[in-house]
Amino acid sequence: MIVSDVFAGKRYAVLGLARSGQAAVETLLASGAKVMAWDSREEPRQVLEGRAELADPAVADLAGYDGVVVSPGVPLNRHPVAENAARAGVPVIGDIELFSLARATLPAHRVVGITGTNGKSTTTSLVHHLLKSAAIPVRMGGNIGIPILSQDPLPAGGVYVLELSSYQIDLTRTLDCDVAALLNITPDHLDRYDGFDGYVASKARLFAMQGTAHHAVFGVCDAETVAIAAEQEARHVAGTVRRVDGADLREMQRDWPSLQGPHNLQNAAVAVAIADALGLKPQQWQAALPRFRGLPHRMERVAEAGGVLFINDSKATNPASAAPALAAFPPDPDRRIHWIVGGLPKGDDLDECAPYFGNVAAAYTIGDAGPQFAELLAPFMPVRRSEMMAEAIRQAISGARPGDIVMLSPACASFDQFRDYEARGDAFRQIVEALVTSEQAAGGVG
Ligand code: ADP
Repeated sequence: MIVSDVFAGKRYAVLGLARSGQAAVETLLASGAKVMAWDSREEPRQVLEGRAELADPAVADLAGYDGVVVSPGVPLNRHPVAENAARAGVPVIGDIELFSLARATLPAHRVVGITGTNGKSTTTSLVHHLLKSAAIPVRMGGNIGIPILSQDPLPAGGVYVLELSSYQIDLTRTLDCDVAALLNITPDHLDRYDGFDGYVASKARLFAMQGTAHHAVFGVCDAETVAIAAEQEARHVAGTVRRVDGADLREMQRDWPSLQGPHNLQNAAVAVAIADALGLKPQQWQAALPRFRGLPHRMERVAEAGGVLFINDSKATNPASAAPALAAFPPDPDRRIHWIVGGLPKGDDLDECAPYFGNVAAAYTIGDAGPQFAELLAPFMPVRRSEMMAEAIRQAISGARPGDIVMLSPACASFDQFRDYEARGDAFRQIVEALVTSEQAAGGVG
């Protein structure tokens, strides 16, 4: 756990006691701070009985507090805690800001911050992999894995690699990343922002917090990202600002099994530029890229049976992130995509996927978006209205021939039928495994 003298004798309120909130409370208590904590669920409150004051920072008197730590899930544009904190003149922050404050007392280290609408987790874990392969002490946290405050501090020379969602950036005030990267910006989470501009401004803040001698890396695929890159080019005096398109890596990409598709070329290009800014040699990252294993639920190969490949891309929760999954398999009569799509829609079109409709042999629609997507896709491809995941997989298996791909890339949130995208991806894998085994027993697939 990270513990720091900077919090000794200070007072913090913590709202939301899921993993990162609990980690914040533990760090603050161990560092000698006084803590007010709250969660609407009783169980996590009970754990803190006697160690923290149990009161709700949305209504409690916050006068004299040094900060209110809220979980990134709290919608600041609507939640009363924002107003209550503003009235008391107390900053609303997140666990990443606590980490940033604690940096002053940690052994000499560097921080990488990675944001973007899509590709954050892949790029973050890839940077982690590249550094680890180069024997550099490294920790990964933020929007991925274990909360950063729960992890042990690194020895001198280490690198903390943080995946940062825009909500986390909104809750951060002082994080000066040694290397900050922005992959891309496409419309998402608009319910939490004042339109698209508000969302773009949130991403831009990661760079506004950076010292001008530090390094910045940008993708080149959309006008918003490029505009922020141009602003930073004008501002950085000593640090480098790089825009990367991955053209120089395209030849090598065929040797990276877990980084296929144009989107992964972008992720890899950004990761390599980050590694470069941190001083890794080309031989170091070149040797590590083919060995990257990828992440669950992102273009994850879950099974192969009867020559049919099953891919779980449950993490594609909007059309912009499903598009590259379709793009990863250009039209080929011997390798056609059976696309399982649908869930809780985030918009009313699939426009971003449209350029790749020609790669799809058939679509199998599920969830709330099913009827709407079925109508939308029918002019372009055969569509089965499967409604449920198991039915979609069954129908896709019967439509597939050897060489084909059955892919869940829903382009939607999962909450209509599943707890989260992970539960949806797990369901896909389990059903595939069960069906493939029973088909094999019956002499079908396999
Ligand atoms: P994030 O952490 O930003 O949600 P992930 O790395 O988990 O991103 O990838 C989520 C999904 O987004 C993937 O399944 C893939 O289909 C898509 N994706 C990944 N990288 C990119 C990218 N650079 N551009 C567009 N889509 C991407």
